[in-house]
Amino acid sequence: MPTIREELDRRELLYSLLMPVMSLYVPGLDKGKGLYFLFVKSESKTPGGLTARPVLTSYYKSDHFRSRPFDAYNIYTSPTAAILCADSFQSMYSQMLCGLYARLDVLRVGAVFASGLLRAIRFLQLHWESLARDIETGTLTDRVADPSVRDSLAGVLSPDPGLARFIVDECSKDNWAGIITRVWPNTKYLDVIVTGAMAQYIPTLEYYSGGIPMACTMYASSECYFGLNLQPMCKPSEVSYTIMPNMAYFEFLPVDSSSSEPTTLVELASVEVGKEYELVITTYAGLYRYRVGDVLRVTGFHNAAPSFRFVRRKNVLLSIESDKTDESELQRAVECASELMRPHGASVAEYTSQADTSSIPGHYVVYWELLVRDPSAGPGRDVLERCCLEMEEAMNAVYRQSRVADGSIGPLEIRVVRSGTFEELMDYAISRGASINQYKVPRCVNFTPIIELLDSRVESAHFSPACPNWTPHT
Ligand code: AMP
Repeated sequence: MPTIREELDRRELLYSLLMPVMSLYVPGLDKGKGLYFLFVKSESKTPGGLTARPVLTSYYKSDHFRSRPFDAYNIYTSPTAAILCADSFQSMYSQMLCGLYARLDVLRVGAVFASGLLRAIRFLQLHWESLARDIETGTLTDRVADPSVRDSLAGVLSPDPGLARFIVDECSKDNWAGIITRVWPNTKYLDVIVTGAMAQYIPTLEYYSGGIPMACTMYASSECYFGLNLQPMCKPSEVSYTIMPNMAYFEFLPVDSSSSEPTTLVELASVEVGKEYELVITTYAGLYRYRVGDVLRVTGFHNAAPSFRFVRRKNVLLSIESDKTDESELQRAVECASELMRPHGASVAEYTSQADTSSIPGHYVVYWELLVRDPSAGPGRDVLERCCLEMEEAMNAVYRQSRVADGSIGPLEIRVVRSGTFEELMDYAISRGASINQYKVPRCVNFTPIIELLDSRVESAHFSPACPNWTPHT
């Protein structure tokens, strides 16, 4: 994405509004710190010699971030050197260590997307013993070798056997429910995006946080920052983002699935409440009438600036023949099926899918990684089979018609993969150049090495035992 220096000022302007808005709803945020897991990625050069790097890496490396003036509302537990360390283990380890030392000062815990925060919890699960050892002795593991990171931790490290014991006590328990508020008891909210494709993490985050509020504060992309949520403490399902008209020139393409004719663009102030539009931007950096690919629904206005609910990223995930299943449909189907597992103390921690056309008829395969509270009493085969059918029931009419009337789609399959598989998927993506901050689990995969990775981790496979409901009028 092309970008220019002034763009940083615009981004900073948006960032600078987040805490004033939040303070309208949560008082006292200047009396403590924020534990944010933030990461950079190494950069490369384009053939023409320009620097190429993810948008957040640019921001964290900029003077705007590194030389930011003191602001009591924006004190992070993570030293800047730890955030700027390109080695993800060293960066995460040192950010976690600082977060643990400052556990009683922490008032909010966050990452950019929900997936990043869950990765941090997973990191704590894997490395708490080493972290506790370092805290007990006030030393730093050799695995953090970056001199600037080591320097930045020098003032933080000191022997604290009481804290080390506390961490061992909490982390060695089998039950990690509410771990975030147990370790950081003064946390008032989680600052993570859980709208759009991130919505599926809500139950897992609720489990680890004991149900404290989740604030989705802003809506942005590499191409352009768009706007902010003026009611950040609302429920995730009610989040609307108000577009800031000074970020770019915004136009809207009405989403009308019944018409294949090109429609005219609507101006920012002329969109209508309740209607859905695809976002089209003309940016200061040079994108002209560029389709971001996001579909938004107008929920209201703040003065003359419209607010939007994020509906979905415009794409079709799965298709065997004439059926088209998009991300929000798949998400809803997973949520419905997930309900059936709730009585068995289980939920879907991660998922992705593929349209398997290796046999005829082709069928949808959905890979699930489960979060099971008590592994000895998890959901049995019959429950998972019912989940397959429940997902099919939640699919659109074209899918069900193909299943029932045409027989052109085979029974949906759930492949349960072992715990940690999606982390491996993320590691794989990162090794191929993805950014940790901006990484989103692909909701559909078709790249052979990834499918092979997933298939090699399958613990059990389940097929829908019956056809879903379909009549010519549903
Ligand atoms: P990237 O190009 O990696 O910066 O990703 C930008 C995309 O992430 C946007 O176009 C959206 O599809 C998604 N995204 C960013 N912020 C949000 C949000 N607050 N809620 C839902 N989706 C978001």
